[in-house]
Amino acid sequence: MIQLIRGVKDILPGDAGLWQYIEREASSLFENFGFKNIRIPIMERTELFSRSIGEQTDIVEKEMYTFEDRGGDMITLRPEATASIVRSYIQHRMYAADPVQKLYTIGPMFRRERPQKGRYRQFYQIDAEVFGVASPLMDSQIIFMLMTLFSRLKVSDCSVRLNSLGCPECRTAFKSALSAFLESRSVSLCEDCQRRRDRNPLRVLDCKAPACRQAMEGAPAIGDFLCADCRGHFDAVMQNLARLDIPFETDKNLVRGLDYYTRTAFEIQTTLLGAQSAVAGGGRYDGLVKMLGGPDTPAIGFAIGMDRLSEIVAAHFGDFSRKPRMFIAALGSACQALAFEWVNRLNSEGIYAEMDMADRSLKSQMKQADRQGAARVVIFGDTEMAAKQVLVRDMATHEQTTVPLESFTEYVTKM
Ligand code: ATP
Ligand code: MG
Repeated sequence: MIQLIRGVKDILPGDAGLWQYIEREASSLFENFGFKNIRIPIMERTELFSRSIGEQTDIVEKEMYTFEDRGGDMITLRPEATASIVRSYIQHRMYAADPVQKLYTIGPMFRRERPQKGRYRQFYQIDAEVFGVASPLMDSQIIFMLMTLFSRLKVSDCSVRLNSLGCPECRTAFKSALSAFLESRSVSLCEDCQRRRDRNPLRVLDCKAPACRQAMEGAPAIGDFLCADCRGHFDAVMQNLARLDIPFETDKNLVRGLDYYTRTAFEIQTTLLGAQSAVAGGGRYDGLVKMLGGPDTPAIGFAIGMDRLSEIVAAHFGDFSRKPRMFIAALGSACQALAFEWVNRLNSEGIYAEMDMADRSLKSQMKQADRQGAARVVIFGDTEMAAKQVLVRDMATHEQTTVPLESFTEYVTKM
């Protein structure tokens, strides 16, 4: 038997119903906030990701699924959606119609990480991006939108962690202070951070290794290096969040793993997931559109980890699989033909009805109806047909009623 490859999973019908529910809630909420759906490809030129995410990041250095296609092009399975949406914004000159574009997409992402609970090699994100709005009002609004989604999905335990990464100017000063500090702590850092120390010092702040956490105590904080504009932006975001009654905590070590972030960076965390505590992350990336060849355009976005979110939501919601409103049990070919007509009519008119197609006995049809969780069984038998009526059995109360065939349509409508 051929099995799944490591780090990927099937989302089986029992769970997929819940996924669809989450996707519907997210789509309808985001659309209330003015977001439009966009669908971008799963593969892109490798260069798109290496340039935007950054050569020195974990994703680009060791997590991308990259291959040479038969024409010799280097192709990568997308590790995230932001870069592709930015490419699309530029390529289709969306800014020409209106620089302000709010876009969202839902789909699979690919990263070759070490598989564990809450961490897969094909995972799913709900991703939203806003272009053309520099105001801190937008930063607060998308965090508000995210938290509203989580509260609709009854995810009670989640908190916003917030930081500002400044702009390239204030970050340069911070980076040199940080590098000097890292020099002094060098021996205590983990192997990965030894490497990051020179190439991507900010990432050391984000390292989860206990040794690094300890070594980084007393490290300089980006907050102390923010220029007046970045400071003002950050303060405004916090004030707006307070106005919207969104609690948050600032976290000076929150840096996010990608190079393109500027100013606001945030994460939504929960204690419900064990080690993989981040359900969503995002931030501002004011320089990326220009860097990828578009006009100078501020932008901000976030991605929700669907796999992790659905796991939390599953704890509050029961079975999402749809149960038949009725099962038509037919006996004999004439009755079966009639049942067949009815089932198709009901199905096409929006009522989930089932029937048996294997000429089973009444007893096993009843069992089948029970197994499928049908609310009622409608019996089409010779006796009933002769009397021009059907027998309806309520599967919960076991009550039986007869309904004249001529008023069956009316009965179904009332049901
Ligand atoms: P983490 O710190 O958990 O590695 P990240 O910073 O790499 O997260 P982002 O790139 O910001 O993650 O993606 C946003 C969200 O996508 C994360 O908060 C998480 O919920 C989810 N996510 C990221 N990587 C994975 C993965 N390999 N498997 C499942 N979900 C993931
Ligand atoms: Mg990661």
